[in-house]
Amino acid sequence: MTKDFIYLDFAASTPVDPRVAERMHECRESGYANPSSNHIAGRVSRANIERAAQQLAALLNVDPRTLVWTSGATESDNLGIAGAARFRSHRGKHLVTLLTEHKAVTDVFQMLEKEGFEVSWLRPDDDGRLEPAALANALREDTQLASVMYVNNETGVMQDIEAIGSICRERDVLFHVDAAQAVGKIPIDLQALPVDLLSLTAHKFYGPKGIGALYIADRPGCRVEPILFGGGQQQRIRPGTLPADLIAGLGLAAEIAQSSIETDLDHLGKLRRLLWAGICDVEGVLVNGDIESGFPGILNVSVSNVEGESLLLGLEPICVATGSACNSKSQEPSYVLRALGRSDSLAQSAIRFSMGRPTTEDEVEFAARRYRDAVARLRDLAPAAPL
Ligand SMILES: *Cc1c(COP(=O)(O)O)cnc(C)c1O
Repeated sequence: MTKDFIYLDFAASTPVDPRVAERMHECRESGYANPSSNHIAGRVSRANIERAAQQLAALLNVDPRTLVWTSGATESDNLGIAGAARFRSHRGKHLVTLLTEHKAVTDVFQMLEKEGFEVSWLRPDDDGRLEPAALANALREDTQLASVMYVNNETGVMQDIEAIGSICRERDVLFHVDAAQAVGKIPIDLQALPVDLLSLTAHKFYGPKGIGALYIADRPGCRVEPILFGGGQQQRIRPGTLPADLIAGLGLAAEIAQSSIETDLDHLGKLRRLLWAGICDVEGVLVNGDIESGFPGILNVSVSNVEGESLLLGLEPICVATGSACNSKSQEPSYVLRALGRSDSLAQSAIRFSMGRPTTEDEVEFAARRYRDAVARLRDLAPAAPL
C-alpha cells in the first residue's frame, strides 16, 4: 500500500501505532467477553482493562481509580464540565471558561447557560495566552468551576495550567482541563499540577478512536453527576459495557508515549523550525499563536490576500486543516483566531500544519515548498488589493 498523500493533520487524529493495533487484535481474540461478567473470560477482559488503567495512570502520575473511561474527549468534556457544574449547583451557578476552547467545551457551557448557569467567557491575549490574573479577576464567591484547555488544538498555544490551577485551588473553584492535545505529547504530572478534572482521548496520541478518559481528582467536593444512565459500571459515573480492546489500545499508547515524549518533542521542534524556515519569508505570512512557547507539533499560519479553502486545494496532496477541522464544513472564519484579534480575512486564510511521530524532514520541506508555490499561484490568479 503506497501513500498518495502527505499527512500533516496529527492534531485532528493520529494513525494507530502498529504495536497498539496488535495489542487490540490480541484482546479481540481472547478478551472479547463482557468485562462485567463473572466468569473466567470476563476476568480476562477485566485484567486487560486494569493493566491499561495502570499504564494511563503511570503516564499521568495518578491512582488508576481516579480514571473514568469514556468514548473520547468530547464525552469527557461533557461529563467533567456539566457533571461537576450540576453536582455543585446548590453552592453556586457561576462558571468560567475561555473563548478559545474546543467546541466540546464551549457547547457544554452554552447548554449550561440555558440551564440557568452564568458563564464568564474570557478572551485570551492576542498571543492566545490567558493571563492568570485575568482568571483571578473573573472568579466570584459563587464560582464553582473553571475550564481552560492545556494545548489549543488550532494554534498549539499552551496555557499556564499550574498558575491558573493554583488560583482555582485558593478560591475553592474546581478546575477542569481539556488536555486532548497534551496527554501523551507533553509531560503531565497530576500529583504536581493543581487540576481536578482532566479530559483526554486516545486517537490524539496514536491510540484508537472512540475511547478516552476523564480524570477525577480524589478530593472533597470534586465529584460529577453522570450524564449517561444504565448499568452499574464505573460506579455509575459512566455506565455502559467497557470496550476492553480499545481500552487496552489506549493503555499501550500511553505507555509508548511515556517512553517517547522527550524524543517526540525534540523531533517535532526540529520539524516546526524547518517548516517555519521554509515559509517565513512569504510576504504577509504570520504565525497564529506563539512560535516560542507553543506546542511544537502545531504551526498555524495566516497569509494576507489569499483565501484558505483555495489554499487548501493548492496544497494537495498535503493534508492540513483550515480554521478548525471540526468547523471545516462551515466557511465561517475560525472563532479561535477571531478571539486572538485576527481579521476575518486573515482568519480565513489560516492553515494548521500539525506534525507527528512519523513525520519526516522531507515531508515538511515539501510542504513548505508547496505552500510558497500555492500562495504565489493564487496571488497571480487573483491579484487582489495591494499588500
Ligand atoms: C480532538 C479534541 C477533542 C475531541 O476529542 P474526541 O475524542 O474526538 O471526542 C476535544 N478537545 C480537544 C482540544 C481536541 O483536540
